[in-house]
Amino acid sequence: MALYVHKYGGTSVGSAERIKAVAERVARFRREGHEVVVVVSAMSGETNRLTSLAQELADKPRPKELDVLLASGEQVTIALLSMAIHELGLDARSFLGSQVRIVTDSQHSKARIEHIEESALRSALAAGQVPVVAGFQGVTEDGEVTTFGRGGSDTTAVALAATLGVEECQIYTDVDGVYTTDPRIVQDARRLETVTFEEMLELASLGSKVLHPRSVEFAGKYNVALRVLSSFEDGPGTLITTEETVMEQPIVSGIAHTRDEAKLTVQGVPDIPGIASKILGPIGRANIEVDMIVQNIGADGLTDFTFTVSRSDFAQALALLEPIREATGAREVVSDDAIAKVSVVGVGMRSHAGVATQMFDALAAENINIQIISTSEIKISVVVAERYLELAVRAIHSAFGLENGPASSLS
Ligand code: ADP
Ligand code: ASP
Ligand code: MG
Repeated sequence: MALYVHKYGGTSVGSAERIKAVAERVARFRREGHEVVVVVSAMSGETNRLTSLAQELADKPRPKELDVLLASGEQVTIALLSMAIHELGLDARSFLGSQVRIVTDSQHSKARIEHIEESALRSALAAGQVPVVAGFQGVTEDGEVTTFGRGGSDTTAVALAATLGVEECQIYTDVDGVYTTDPRIVQDARRLETVTFEEMLELASLGSKVLHPRSVEFAGKYNVALRVLSSFEDGPGTLITTEETVMEQPIVSGIAHTRDEAKLTVQGVPDIPGIASKILGPIGRANIEVDMIVQNIGADGLTDFTFTVSRSDFAQALALLEPIREATGAREVVSDDAIAKVSVVGVGMRSHAGVATQMFDALAAENINIQIISTSEIKISVVVAERYLELAVRAIHSAFGLENGPASSLS
């Protein structure tokens, strides 16, 4: 009997009917002769609802209590799904992260898994039970509840798959695979048969929320066969795989976007050694992650220094910049949180020049101004005004002909 991990996301367990459908899928899988460990998210909308409740009561809810609160969403679905599986004549058992012992560090709301004990799950499997595990949550050595960040149930699934050494980790969601871009933005986006770990990691990190970035990182590191499929219909989905197994490397595999961006510029700052560290030092010490950085060529001994942060850190970063402006004698701080980032990703870019020009041409043709550019070996990202985000994604998708199948670097 081969062992699999199945993960069902929020929409897939969004109602009693949907939970029943998941129980039936799990039962069918068992009848076909497989063993399965199931990971579930909270019902769709539940984590948002709990977050809003917390915000009604506290400006800055204590991270420790927020984790206790948010982890409750998954506690509901493990119990309900276990009951539904029971009704179909199979034995199932629910597990909280702490009951499995998914042990994490103590960084609340973004905890990292340190180790997972497999004995409780192995015993349940040996007893013929279907373990149903709460995604997104763990426990510290001291018994505190932690969570892994939004979308973190995918990471629970892959981490369990790595620990148990499964045949395949199957992420069941509300789309039937990984697409060339978010199918909610581009209607003729195309499902990818395969995508490499490297590309998927970039896509996920740059905003494609179909997989949690940490889950892809784990899958690559521990060589877990990872597949994204629909819980609503049968199909092959998308296999995340290594580069060697894919014959033709597309130049561009996909386009990711994120609205979670804000831009800050210190204008008229003295163009002298140490200025970057004077500006970014306090930002880093406040645990604010800086994404893109641009320093313009100076004139008259002055320069402009721009960087981006995630929107949730925007207000804090802005407040930190005022004393820095004063201390450095800079003229002004200007900011904009109505920006978005669009990125093209593809391993084929390594051996193919001209991708950036093609991307910039597509944006120019739509009169979309590029505010910041950043590149790496397999991706190009641009910042544009948020109001142009969807237009930018569509224009770039079409410029690379992604709806028609990949342009191969071998062709
Ligand atoms: P779940 O609740 O199952 O974890 P998510 O909402 O987290 O599901 O992720 C699935 C969603 O990801 C899809 O509904 C889709 O809108 C979005 N998405 C963004 N980029 C992509 C992409 N490249 N391919 C497929 N889906 C994508
Ligand atoms: N319920 C959590 C969230 O909404 C985790 C997940 O769905 O993966 O972010
Ligand atoms: Mg998700």
